[in-house]
Amino acid sequence: MRILVIEDDVNLNRQLADALREAGYVVDQAFDGEEGHFLGETEPYDAVILDIGLPEMDGITVVEKWRQAGKGMPVLMLTARDRWSDKVAGIDAGADDYVAKPFHVEEVLARVRALIRRAAGHSSSELACGPVRLDTKASKATVNGVTLKLTSHEFRLLSYLMHHMGQVVSRTELIEHMYDQDFDRDSNTIEVFVGRLRKKIGVDLIDTVRGLGYRMQAPDDVH
Ligand code: CA
Repeated sequence: MRILVIEDDVNLNRQLADALREAGYVVDQAFDGEEGHFLGETEPYDAVILDIGLPEMDGITVVEKWRQAGKGMPVLMLTARDRWSDKVAGIDAGADDYVAKPFHVEEVLARVRALIRRAAGHSSSELACGPVRLDTKASKATVNGVTLKLTSHEFRLLSYLMHHMGQVVSRTELIEHMYDQDFDRDSNTIEVFVGRLRKKIGVDLIDTVRGLGYRMQAPDDVH
């Protein structure tokens, strides 16, 4: 899962990005509204954390422009404490949720998890497919109750596939959601990661759809 953090406070931006990376996400960072708006319009993100008070272009305008352009990714707005009018303006402009400053990073992480989950149509924080369970809260996966030892890439891959169970996901889509903008992307590596992940899971749950990509079986398909 790939997240964009737009926050002009350098320390806060870094703090959020570190915590998100620690939780298994890949993160792009922007420090002003214009740069952030550009990234959100050109790169696919699973969620965006957007500060309301930004240089170059304010957060309200950023989210408004994305929505006008048909961009539907979940947006979590960071607002100033006690500014209820900011919260209303943010939601009206198209933000999905907000957190008031100062906040605990854990709260931001929980809200981001919920936004990503809901955008993918899941209501529970634990996703299950046959014997495989993905705990989005603890960023870990188990097979028949045994914890899988996954690299960060493998975890991101499994997480993306499980959030989109039953759907065909192309290699390009996987790459775009597993790596940040600076990464040298090679679609052949996806095949290698899928191979390793299949081996670690040990159960045949990831189908190859010839010419299209991969599909994690929907829970109803698993016998
Ligand atoms: Ca700010």
